[in-house]
Amino acid sequence: MTEHENDRQRISRRAALTRTALALGAATAATVARQAAAQQKVTQTLANYQGTPKGNDHCEVCLNFQPPNTCKFVQGDISPNGWCQLFTPKSQ
Ligand code: SF4
Repeated sequence: MTEHENDRQRISRRAALTRTALALGAATAATVARQAAAQQKVTQTLANYQGTPKGNDHCEVCLNFQPPNTCKFVQGDISPNGWCQLFTPKSQ
């Protein structure tokens, strides 16, 4: 992958996160966006991560999930059956 492609992918990921963050409360969104801009993962607490699905939404079908148990944007062990406020469906 070229550096240009890496930049485009990074910008695309940031744009997707920003769109998701805008759907959250203003204070949380600002914090999440600031941390993402700094290329840091947010804490599970800040993302309101839970180890169980929310309806049909869960990490395994989230764009940000990195099998087997990590996330692009949330720190720590992430269950495929977990969920957080940054959930972004793969089909989006
Ligand atoms: S739902 Fe949240 S913790 Fe799970 S993969 Fe998506 S962004 Fe990461």
